[in-house]
Amino acid sequence: MLAIAQIGESVLNRPAQKVIEFSPALAKLANEMLETMLEAKGVGIAAPQVNQSLSLFIMASRSNERYPDAPFIEPSTVVNPKIIACSDEKVSGEEGCLSIAEQRFTILRHEWVEVSFQDLNGLEHHQTLTGFIARIFQHEYDHLQGITLIERSAMQASNSLSGAVR
Ligand SMILES: [Zn+2]
Repeated sequence: MLAIAQIGESVLNRPAQKVIEFSPALAKLANEMLETMLEAKGVGIAAPQVNQSLSLFIMASRSNERYPDAPFIEPSTVVNPKIIACSDEKVSGEEGCLSIAEQRFTILRHEWVEVSFQDLNGLEHHQTLTGFIARIFQHEYDHLQGITLIERSAMQASNSLSGAVR
């Protein structure tokens, strides 16, 4: 199991580098991230969380003690993701993070996102994600921009404040 960076470690607030080489070392890292995520009972993990500033994350949702209502999706490795389009509508939901022990945040996310990314072979994928899966994608995508739930919830608070002033 890899060590999981905790809040306050600078790697979590640094934008990740684009993956250029689809090497066996990248596949090995993805595999170790998957094992680490399953061990920690997460539904996603981003490379910066294991001290690798690379544009790569794993999503794998299944019901567990931390997320009893999570739907099942096969683990997938997402490399160099982009959000191409998203719903105007946002939905609120509870999120935790393996880098922030024991804390939950209520976070607004787009209800759906249209995304593109590469897999471990460098092949391009294009998908539209909704609901909980869209939420995981947006959470992990934030990690690649150096944004954790701490910054995301602070942004939300200041948005609703400026909304109230208008
Ligand atoms: Zn997280």
